[in-house]
Amino acid sequence: MTITPELAPVPAAPSLALYLHIPFCRTRCTYCAFNTYTGLDRLIEPYTRALAHEIRVVGGTERRAAHTIYFGGGTPSLVPPDLLVEVLAACADAFTLAEPTEVTLETNPATVDLDALKALRQIGINRISIGMQSAHASELKLFARGHTADDVRDTVRLARRAGFDNLSLDLIYGNPGQTFAMWQTSLDAALSMQPEHLSMYSLGIEDGTPMQRWVARGQVEPPDADLAADMYEWAIERLARAGFEQYEISNWAKPGYECEHNLQYWRDLPYLGLGAGAHGYAGGLRYSTVLRPADYIARMMVQPPPLPFPRTAAWLDSEAIDAQDEMAEIMVTGLRLTRTGVEAETFQARTGQGLWAVYGEQIRQLIRDGLLEQSGSHVRLTPRGRLLGNLVFEAFV
Ligand code: SF4
Repeated sequence: MTITPELAPVPAAPSLALYLHIPFCRTRCTYCAFNTYTGLDRLIEPYTRALAHEIRVVGGTERRAAHTIYFGGGTPSLVPPDLLVEVLAACADAFTLAEPTEVTLETNPATVDLDALKALRQIGINRISIGMQSAHASELKLFARGHTADDVRDTVRLARRAGFDNLSLDLIYGNPGQTFAMWQTSLDAALSMQPEHLSMYSLGIEDGTPMQRWVARGQVEPPDADLAADMYEWAIERLARAGFEQYEISNWAKPGYECEHNLQYWRDLPYLGLGAGAHGYAGGLRYSTVLRPADYIARMMVQPPPLPFPRTAAWLDSEAIDAQDEMAEIMVTGLRLTRTGVEAETFQARTGQGLWAVYGEQIRQLIRDGLLEQSGSHVRLTPRGRLLGNLVFEAFV
């Protein structure tokens, strides 16, 4: 296999996606390994100002194009709207934003009231993602979620009243003690709230979490992978009947409501990760930023000499992505897109290499194994491949 040392240039300078990490939560969920902190509310204001500063610094005077802004966390809804508006103003000053720009805010039920939701809508948040996770009190308690099933309904109702017409719910399945019937009622409860978008994740047992300790000590049953697979397959059918299209392994949308921000990741296109503990990919580099909010604020207060885009003083680590890495990443992220998968001409335009010339052997074997299929110039996962995604991705790395 011959690999050219440099990627062919992407045809047009691709518009950026902006990920803004808000690392604060009220309580810590028992399965969570995200970079988030409780008891640091006093840092919310200086942190948000530091974030606005970083956005202006990285944008510089170039005013590069951007088309999505995503407040992720953490619990971004803990930041008052009058501070979020400063962050949005920084984005508008530092980047040429598309019209419209998708602006998502992750929120947890019972962290926002109607006035806050109205204010969020008014400052330009046009997509809201609500962490529902389950409709069952026993699971919410096991997860220490800090909200009830009724809180989810209330938050959705209030979000609608505030004018949100692009609303996503998150659910977790494959949970300890969760029966198939419980999963069915959770998903049906989510559907009864008529979201435009649903994300569903199989519970991961992450190192360093209470859940991991409980499972290791035998206090909590480990997830049953076969049952989780049955839940996933049932959900695919149930959501299709409800008019949702699956567009990614874990994501479904009503037509036209796919998450543009997350599509940027799966298309292996550039995004900036800003804030503490964020990850980004731009300028041929993957990078991560300093984890602790206090360290992040301190770094943003010093004024280093101008750094080459996309580097900022918040960077902790970075890795250059060479042509071989880039091709593997296009496969691993692109195959997550269940409808489109990886398209041969796009692969050629991005890499200067033929998809079949580079990966024909692996693709043909995975087709024989029933994990991939060819549809015109697209290569994508089969229904069985969606269940065994990691096995497929391993073939390309
Ligand atoms: S609300 Fe989200 S980010 Fe915060 S602890 Fe729970 S899972 Fe983690």
